[in-house]
Amino acid sequence: MLQDLSVGRLENEFYNLEPKAEDLVICFHENQVLLKKGKDGAFLLPTVEKVSPLTETWDHWYESGFRYVFRIRDTNFFLWLGNADAENCGAFSFEPIRLLRYKGVDDLCFAAWTAWHLYVWYRNNRFCGCCGSKTRHDSKERMLRCPDCGNMIFPKISPAVIVGVTDGDRLLMSKYAGRDYTHYALIAGYTEIGETLEQTVQREVMEEVGLKVKNIRYYKSQPWGIDGNVLMGFYCDLDGDDTIHLDGNELSLAEWHHRGALPAKDDGLTLTRAMIRAFDEGNYPK
Ligand SMILES: [Zn+2]
Repeated sequence: MLQDLSVGRLENEFYNLEPKAEDLVICFHENQVLLKKGKDGAFLLPTVEKVSPLTETWDHWYESGFRYVFRIRDTNFFLWLGNADAENCGAFSFEPIRLLRYKGVDDLCFAAWTAWHLYVWYRNNRFCGCCGSKTRHDSKERMLRCPDCGNMIFPKISPAVIVGVTDGDRLLMSKYAGRDYTHYALIAGYTEIGETLEQTVQREVMEEVGLKVKNIRYYKSQPWGIDGNVLMGFYCDLDGDDTIHLDGNELSLAEWHHRGALPAKDDGLTLTRAMIRAFDEGNYPK
């Protein structure tokens, strides 16, 4: 899946580091990330050394504008916390972050999407929501602190479920309404305040397709930083009538499909596709 890097893992422990010339920088402008095309066509992130001359004319929100975020394979990644000038980016160009998943650069995609999750959090919390003062970085953990009222602000992660509704050798598959993503998917939705994950599963299935489910069991999870989520996959069994009552605002279709003829292949990136494959192979919690 997306978070499974080609070598090692994303080391997300917090350190209060200063940027060095060779460290990589993830720099966003609107929904785009600053990249350079390498000799083999692969995209590369700029180093601190390369991007620093550009940032001299760019606005930043905090201190130097650079903030350490994580490490992959002994390489430190910094975020540029500020506004970038898309017209003044030298040999680099801004590319849409959603397109990275289709470029065959999984490690870069995961790094950029995780950095995006943090970037949105920093961007949206420059000022204290309690008193309106400008927030500051904490030096000991990944937290913003208000110097005037003491408000502590931690990164926001929204829990959401993905649901494989099964009925014998059939899996319920659906397509979203009104989205760019037009492939088959599974029922999904955010956890509401005051409910358990199991209740989220039951509610989302009832809301979107009007079915009752039972025997809910956990499968795996996936960080999905582009939307600020952690996704949790569950399988469950149909309980009773299999007649689908579609919520046309959420879904354009929902259908039962048989094992061996499921209309979606594992793309190696998403929990949804991994769950469809696991059901197809019979390799899922029953
Ligand atoms: Zn405050």
